[in-house]
Amino acid sequence: MTLDEVRFFPADAALAVLTTQPIDRLLDYRAPEGGARTGDFVEVPLGPRKVLGVVWGGPESDLPRAKLRPVLRVLGVPPMRDELRAFLTRAADYTLTPMALMLWLATRAPGLFDAPKMRKVYLAGEELARMTDARARVMDAFDAYGGAALTMTEITRAAGVSPSVVQTLAAQGGLIEAAAPVDAPYPRLDAGLPGKALSDDQRAAAERLCTGTGAFGVTLLKGVTGSGKTEVYMEAVAACLAAGRQALVLLPEIALTAQFIGRVEERFGARPAEWHSGVTLTERRRLWRMVGQGGAQLIVGARSALFLPYRDLGLIVVDEEHDSSYKQEDGVLYNARDMAVLRASIVGAQVVLASATPSLESWANAEAGKYARIDLPARFGVAELPDMRAIDLRAEEMPGGRWISPTLRRAIDARLQAKEQALLFINRRGYAPITVCRGCGHQIQCADCDARMVEHRFLKRLMCHQCGATAPIPTVCPACGVEGRMAAIGPGVERLEEEARATFPEARIAVLSSDLFASSRALKAQIDAIAAGEADLIIGTQLVAKGHNFPLLTLVGVIDADLGLHGADLRAAERTFQLIRQVAGRAGRAEKPGVALLQTHQPDHPVIRAILSGDDEGFWRAEANERQALGMPPYGRLAGIILSSPKLEELSDFAMALAERDAPLRRIGAQVFGPAPAPIARVRGRHRVRMLVKAAKGAALQPALRAWVAQLKPPHDLRVALDIDPQSFW
Ligand code: ADP
Ligand code: ZN
Repeated sequence: MTLDEVRFFPADAALAVLTTQPIDRLLDYRAPEGGARTGDFVEVPLGPRKVLGVVWGGPESDLPRAKLRPVLRVLGVPPMRDELRAFLTRAADYTLTPMALMLWLATRAPGLFDAPKMRKVYLAGEELARMTDARARVMDAFDAYGGAALTMTEITRAAGVSPSVVQTLAAQGGLIEAAAPVDAPYPRLDAGLPGKALSDDQRAAAERLCTGTGAFGVTLLKGVTGSGKTEVYMEAVAACLAAGRQALVLLPEIALTAQFIGRVEERFGARPAEWHSGVTLTERRRLWRMVGQGGAQLIVGARSALFLPYRDLGLIVVDEEHDSSYKQEDGVLYNARDMAVLRASIVGAQVVLASATPSLESWANAEAGKYARIDLPARFGVAELPDMRAIDLRAEEMPGGRWISPTLRRAIDARLQAKEQALLFINRRGYAPITVCRGCGHQIQCADCDARMVEHRFLKRLMCHQCGATAPIPTVCPACGVEGRMAAIGPGVERLEEEARATFPEARIAVLSSDLFASSRALKAQIDAIAAGEADLIIGTQLVAKGHNFPLLTLVGVIDADLGLHGADLRAAERTFQLIRQVAGRAGRAEKPGVALLQTHQPDHPVIRAILSGDDEGFWRAEANERQALGMPPYGRLAGIILSSPKLEELSDFAMALAERDAPLRRIGAQVFGPAPAPIARVRGRHRVRMLVKAAKGAALQPALRAWVAQLKPPHDLRVALDIDPQSFW
């Protein structure tokens, strides 16, 4: 889709509208009374319904105007900027996503059709003769807020009075009632407030970042955990705000936002705007509107915040840029890190990619000089990086069904004695990954997926981690009918907890696993409690690897360092390296030095050795050489094609037929691998077949893929998903 110039369409002129409806083309309408211009958000009729759209340009067809239905109205929000139209268009081209879906991503706020809602507010009125204490406190509250309009709740809370005091004051003229839009601007952040005193390294890094303000550029900020990356990029945020532009900080995990928002408040004197799935619909609407009007300076959020209608975006920070959660794996398949760079290049904004363990992609871009790179090699202040050591499990006595080695146990005992915290890390949710009958060997599988059911004792159910289906934990084997021989095999976080409780009966134990918390609030409470020292031993899954700051923690034990090494996955080594380094980085963040102990059967495995040696650059260079030799990303390009259908035969036939018609791909020198059953060959009752397309770095992959799949119309019920730059291969 090409991008037309902004045009004005007078009343009744024909124009084309992009809607969020699943129709892969623009629809023509007639401009409403008063006209419309490119980028206007409009309401248009579609069949019997009214739908949201954006005026995209001149008409697509040459139907006489009389045949066109009219645009119902132009909505009262700022038109979509050219920059955002260009971004959506290019993101759609890159990810091979229909434009309608892109527009849907960019309009995920409720109430865009509605006129701005109003609410009742109060302003200070005339001085009254009779001022009781309560009344005086109300007037003080107005003074404290600089005379701003306040709502009833704000007044009663600030002054500690009952609503009746306010009502009486209003009736007597001491307060004046008024109406104000619900969607109020966010409090102003003061970029002029002083930040923390930075160390020399930090100051040099911050100064380099700030010189980029105002133009496009990408910087990889690589700093060990605890080096003060956040403090440093906060200075880039300050410079951006001081220049009057907006800043966006992306975090990989909602649970991290609360801590971060606290730091923003400390730094700039007010809270930023928040955008993620945990934010109420009302707040989303407010944010969507305010971001477009400039009433929000700093937005902290999840990857979808990239699609907001910023008025003037000057900086995007992608914190923990290597994190795999930046890749959206369903619906629109995009990588937020790459899309951040794309959007910034269109608006002339700066990007900061922060990580202790960057993705190989970003590392290679810095090597090639496409990204600037700033290193923070030491922790801030007296904190030192943890000492890393392997525990060779082949030399430990490990009774069956136990996972904490004697060496690790002694280390934990020592921490408990010293009143310090220890953390045990296992990257597996639930109690046990396998439930098997000791009589016949039958393993319990999900009925709809090619996956084992995982026992969750906490839920008292078996659960499929693919589709979420649950079933009771059987006492009788469903295959051989023998009772009482079903057994749990292998460790999960719940089982580790059980062992820890038995081994360290005196310790206060806290478990952090994403499925154990009903709300992000409960999770945050648990994290705060741990940080405050209310637990001695923390047991956690992947969740604990991400950026939390536990000052009392001095020991990290990795239960199974080998777990990620054996995947056929292209990134198995990279992921294991990142994950274990991140978890180990939780130890010794304050004055007391930390230790990380890795339980492994292969202490000589190159990845384990790289983790232990601390030679990051060596690891990345070796990994880069290997990928380069194979022509794999980031030195070559991949696209995954996932075909799925409830009908296996139809699926196989279609996949074979598609594979045979590979001329468009061969024309760009690309190779097709497969079709082959996906590693998880069935999910929710749908069979899955994968193909992989591999091309040289400079190849025009997307147009070739588009031409390739356009040759065959898939049968009803057969889905074709294209995954550009795939991160996962299940
Ligand atoms: P990173 O993001 O690299 O893990 P942080 O920015 O979170 O590091 O810093 C780690 C800890 O050190 C935080 O508690 C932070 O407040 C503190 N810290 C870092 N730099 C400074 C500084 N210049 N002055 C005071 N405290 C600092
Ligand atoms: Zn399932």
